[in-house]
Amino acid sequence: MSSITRVAGKIIIPTPFAVGDVNTYLLKGDALTLVDAGIKTQEAKEALERQLKELGYRLSDIEQVILTHHHSDHCGLIDVFQEDPLYGHEDNQRYLKRDPAFMKEQKDYFTSMAKQFGVPPQLMKYANDVESLYTYSGSKPLTHFLKEGDWIPGHPGWRAMETFGHSQGHLSFYHEESGTLIGGDLLLGKISPNPILEVPKRAEQERLKPQLQLNDSLRRLQNERLTIVYPGHGKDITEPYQLIEKRLKNQHERAFHVKSLIGEDRRNVLELAIQLFPKAVKRDPALALFETLGQLDYLDSLHEIESEMVDGVVWYYNK
Ligand SMILES: [Zn+2]
Repeated sequence: MSSITRVAGKIIIPTPFAVGDVNTYLLKGDALTLVDAGIKTQEAKEALERQLKELGYRLSDIEQVILTHHHSDHCGLIDVFQEDPLYGHEDNQRYLKRDPAFMKEQKDYFTSMAKQFGVPPQLMKYANDVESLYTYSGSKPLTHFLKEGDWIPGHPGWRAMETFGHSQGHLSFYHEESGTLIGGDLLLGKISPNPILEVPKRAEQERLKPQLQLNDSLRRLQNERLTIVYPGHGKDITEPYQLIEKRLKNQHERAFHVKSLIGEDRRNVLELAIQLFPKAVKRDPALALFETLGQLDYLDSLHEIESEMVDGVVWYYNK
């Protein structure tokens, strides 16, 4: 049994997104495994092929693919590995299958959310152009599910951690013996990951609070022994605890800035998002709105603010 599989290669793949390149990782063990699969562009596929070759492999040598999460920069090229097992958390499946009922569910959900945020629905891409979110996404469904505590098949010692927040079903992979974490988009060197709102899995479920989930996931890392984090974007993180502290502290400060913007007034999510991100809100309103909502959820969790729905719009005010 190969008790230690180290990360055998880091493959850096270009994306057309503002985030820049995305990282995928190669694990050598009882099965040659690719963790995440880049984005669906020809350029990305060529970059993957070229760098695999430099490591001594071809695309066809990959025996299985494991996903940290379902965003297109991480799952775009899964269709290339049509014959291979594809592992990931069950919550990713609906985003890979994208059946018409789920596409409609997303459209309806974000239309109603847009109203709550105070946004005219036509401004919200998440509501009116759901399909465009998947332009660069792969569509091979997961063949196997991984959940908290499961080991990566073929790689004893690597276990899955459910680290939701940036997405639902987000997994990180932890090798305890060496203190190595393949972290997906949980912890990134340059930016704090967006707390992206998703449709609850069951209709009766409350609205998700991704910023709070993300914070909980980061705090979980503080209880593990970490020496290195291999992130989904950017350089390896060699001082993870410092960075986690910084991320949590900055988020706390951002939230209290939002609290000060509310002041004596009452404000909705859109009004605050415009103040916080005047440019971004025009470019991609959803991300600016989710980021703002995340700060409001955080303030609410500390009982710093209250909210009230009037004619379908949620208004926030200081206690
Ligand atoms: Zn990403």
